[in-house]
Amino acid sequence: MNIVDVLNEIWTTILEVTSVFVMPDWGVVIGWLPVLILLGVVMPFLTFVALGSLLYVARKPRTKVVFEEGPRVAEIGPGGESIFPVGLPHCRRHGLVYPSGTLRCEEDHEDLAVICPMCGLGRTAIIDTCTNCGLVLKVKPRAVAVRTTPGPKPGGAAAA
Ligand SMILES: [Zn+2]
Ligand SMILES: [Zn+2]
Repeated sequence: MNIVDVLNEIWTTILEVTSVFVMPDWGVVIGWLPVLILLGVVMPFLTFVALGSLLYVARKPRTKVVFEEGPRVAEIGPGGESIFPVGLPHCRRHGLVYPSGTLRCEEDHEDLAVICPMCGLGRTAIIDTCTNCGLVLKVKPRAVAVRTTPGPKPGGAAAA
């Protein structure tokens, strides 16, 4: 008598014992097994994966977008004064620093100021050439840079 015979005997005994209790419903249980596996294992797994990826997508790109678009609050110096980076448009009243190319404050539509990177003189952001040292700031708004027809307008069409 080897080990396989012993196992077979044990298995036969198990089947005989269990058949007494569960034989009438065994086929039904087998039939429901895929559904039970689906509900018990696959669905929680899928829910977990979906929730995880949702959280990942929701968290990752947001901080990046905030810093690239729209104003950010200027750093505060030791004397309580707002420190504005040179060459970037900013609003002194609201302490906001805007992306390059912005001309007006989103809060009150006031003209923004800009500090010349060369000589440190402040002026309004609308003027792109420094009146002190002549440095020209390239502050072209993105909407203008994307424009498809940068050439001269077709002449005579709208002339009155
Ligand atoms: Zn402002
Ligand atoms: Zn200057």
